[in-house]
Amino acid sequence: MVRNPENLREWRRRYYQKNKNKIKKECNEYYQNNKEKMRKAHHSYYQKNKKKIIERGKEYYWKNIEKKKKYDKNYREKNREKKLGYDKDYRKENIKRIRKYYQKNKEKYKEYSKEYYQKNKDWFAQYRMEKAYPYRKILDSESVCELCYNKQKLIIHHIDKNHKNNDRNNLRIFCRSCHTGFHNSERAKMPICVGLEGD
Ligand SMILES: [Zn+2]
Ligand SMILES: [Zn+2]
Repeated sequence: MVRNPENLREWRRRYYQKNKNKIKKECNEYYQNNKEKMRKAHHSYYQKNKKKIIERGKEYYWKNIEKKKKYDKNYREKNREKKLGYDKDYRKENIKRIRKYYQKNKEKYKEYSKEYYQKNKDWFAQYRMEKAYPYRKILDSESVCELCYNKQKLIIHHIDKNHKNNDRNNLRIFCRSCHTGFHNSERAKMPICVGLEGD
C-alpha cells in the first residue's frame, strides 16, 4: 500500500488533520494521567543526552538563524505593548532579586571577580593600553611630572580637552596632585599655570 516515505508522511499529515481534535484530547489525557512519569523520563533523558541535545540545538540555531531572526522580529513587533509592560515589572523584580542575591553572596562575588581579574590580567592591561587609555603609551621609566618632577602617580592631561586627540603636542604629563591642583585653580579662575589649559 504505502511504501514511499513521502506518501507515508502525506498520509500521516492528512490523518492528523482529519482527527486533530481527537488526537489532541487523547494526548492531553495521557499527559495528565502520566504527568510525573513523563516528566521524570524527560528529565533523565535530558540529563543523559545533555551534550548531544545542546550541540544539536546550537547546530539547528546556526542553520536556521535567518529564520529565527525573522521569527523573533515578528514576535517582538506583535507583542510589543505586552512586552513593554511585562518588561518594566520584570526588570524591577529582576533587579531586586539580583541585588538581594548579591548582598547575600557578596564575599563570593568579590573573590570570584578577583580571581577573574588575576586570570585575565594581561587582557585587562592590554585593554587599558589600547582601548581605554591609549595615550598612556607615552609614559616610560624616565617620565616625570612637568610641574614638580615627581615620578609617581602620573596622569596624562589633554590640552584641547579632547581625550581622543592623542597627538603628543596635545598631551602633558602631570602627577596626580599637580593635575588636581591645576584643575582646581582653573575652576577658581586663578591661572597659576600660565600657558596651560585643557582637561
Ligand atoms: Zn606634579
Ligand atoms: Zn587634566
